[in-house]
Amino acid sequence: MTIFEAYNHIKQKLKAAGIEDSVFEAKVIIKHITGLSNSEILTAYTKELTEYEQNNLTAILRQREIRYPLQYILGEWDFYKYRFKVGVGVLIPRSDTEILVEKCCEYLENKPSPKILDLCAGSGCIGISLALDFPDSAVVMVEKYPEALRYIEQNIEFCGAYNSLGIKGDVCDGTACEQTYDLIVSNPPYIPPNEMAITSPETKFEPETALLGGQDGLDFYRAIINNYKNSLKDGGMLAFEVGINEAERVKSLLTDSGFVKITITKDLNQIERVVTAIKG
Ligand code: GLN
Repeated sequence: MTIFEAYNHIKQKLKAAGIEDSVFEAKVIIKHITGLSNSEILTAYTKELTEYEQNNLTAILRQREIRYPLQYILGEWDFYKYRFKVGVGVLIPRSDTEILVEKCCEYLENKPSPKILDLCAGSGCIGISLALDFPDSAVVMVEKYPEALRYIEQNIEFCGAYNSLGIKGDVCDGTACEQTYDLIVSNPPYIPPNEMAITSPETKFEPETALLGGQDGLDFYRAIINNYKNSLKDGGMLAFEVGINEAERVKSLLTDSGFVKITITKDLNQIERVVTAIKG
């Protein structure tokens, strides 16, 4: 099978499995199995795949046909300006979350040596992106589950974000709340159980503990606001990613707790996705 034939074969198989972006994925998979760049593929598309490459392709297609996430198969994924290691046991970085990072960056602009706390850090993609964009910052990332914490440690090395640190802990216990920070950021689990059924087939392979946010989806916002409000400096910012239809309710929790200057920002699909608040 030539590279060109393989490309068409992948596209057709992915389409049949109900995968929308089969063209994009077919290109990514070809690059992954051949190790060639975009421009190299253009000149090598009549080249035959080796037996090893072909076997690898068969294995990958079997996994994608049952909607095992492409990101886990590749083992790496781009988020914001950087690339992160990902795999089973960690939430896959999503482009929606880049808006949360951008809001944090706006706030951190011109803040000398900011101290940053990332709660429910998962792969570490938020905390590490901020650490890399602000080399004079100090970033602490709290993660409860050892599988994810291992990815944080790996990603600190992989990205060279040596001004950041991952620690094991639970936001419900207030881990790392004894310090004060300029910015506390979190993309906590926020899906209510009755909405799990409508998540994508790929999401079923991600850790439920990174997705489920209690009966109304808001458990982690309540815990973080209660346990960490005193860990913010005066004028410090709390920044959350929120689930669908949660922004106004999270805003109320923040208002009730005395936060000011609350902003809500939409994602690229026009869904209210990020809520920020200042400690007054
Ligand atoms: N955005 C993810 C999804 O909808 C959920 C991430 C989270 O719970 N923080 O699949």
